[in-house]
Amino acid sequence: MTLPALRDRSCPCCGAQAGRAEIICSGDAENMTVDQLRSYWHGLEKTKHFFTYRRCADCALLYNPVFFDDAQLADLYSDMPPNMDMLPFSAIAATQRGYFDAAARAGLSSGDYLEIGPDVGHLVTAAVDHGGFDRFWLFEPNQAVHGPLRQATGERPVSILTDMTDLSPVPARSVSLAVMIHVLDHLLDPLAMLRGIHAKLKPGGKLLIVTHDEASLLRRVLGRRWPPFCLQHPLLYSSRTIRALAGRAGFPAVEVSASTNHFPIDFLARQAAQAAGVSLPRRLPLPQSAIALRLGNMLTIAQAAA
Ligand SMILES: [Zn+2]
Repeated sequence: MTLPALRDRSCPCCGAQAGRAEIICSGDAENMTVDQLRSYWHGLEKTKHFFTYRRCADCALLYNPVFFDDAQLADLYSDMPPNMDMLPFSAIAATQRGYFDAAARAGLSSGDYLEIGPDVGHLVTAAVDHGGFDRFWLFEPNQAVHGPLRQATGERPVSILTDMTDLSPVPARSVSLAVMIHVLDHLLDPLAMLRGIHAKLKPGGKLLIVTHDEASLLRRVLGRRWPPFCLQHPLLYSSRTIRALAGRAGFPAVEVSASTNHFPIDFLARQAAQAAGVSLPRRLPLPQSAIALRLGNMLTIAQAAA
């Protein structure tokens, strides 16, 4: 009978306790055991459970006061089945190259490259193609992708590390571009992570972050059926709250924009059907070509003081 261990968290951005419950799941996840929640954690069940999201009265961050602790998370993440609705490699690569291009348009200087959770290294490939980076610091707990990651860096100097919370091997003020794609909305203590990265950035260095946008049109249309309301996201950001968080971590300049995802049409149909509670056959008579959409994600570029 082990319940989720964190019972009344204060706001992970500003530390305030006050706020009101804004997004409430119809189930009672707060009083289910970790073992009862395990199959819902994977997101493969027809019904959905997630913890109540509170809106912080001070900084407006949307977060779960009840959540798993680090040990429970390590257990849950170690037991992930393969993603059933995998996007084709080409669609993911196109989406992620777009993220790198946004950072490049904002201006990149020479220095090291750091990425938290690079997976197989789509952005690493784009960074190697772009040139101008010295060492690649890649923090990736999934050892199964370390081979592809090393390949993505080609002949460049690289350090691949498994502990995402220990940035101590990276020299202070050495990094010109740090990257976190769909990582920040999984973290219990995002402020500590952003402060840690800030200390590694060169003057004027940039941090590229992609997250869901809980103030997006898609979120308002779908309400609590919006897929990112789930057991894997202890908090979700809007442009307002991610600016506040990055500001608190020491970044004086923060730009936020809607990001573009490349989706195959049949994948979109499946996601829409899932949100509506309809199941579809695995093969659909729809074209497989990809379209670019701005769908509820945002791209944040935070810059360290020059
Ligand atoms: Zn707050």
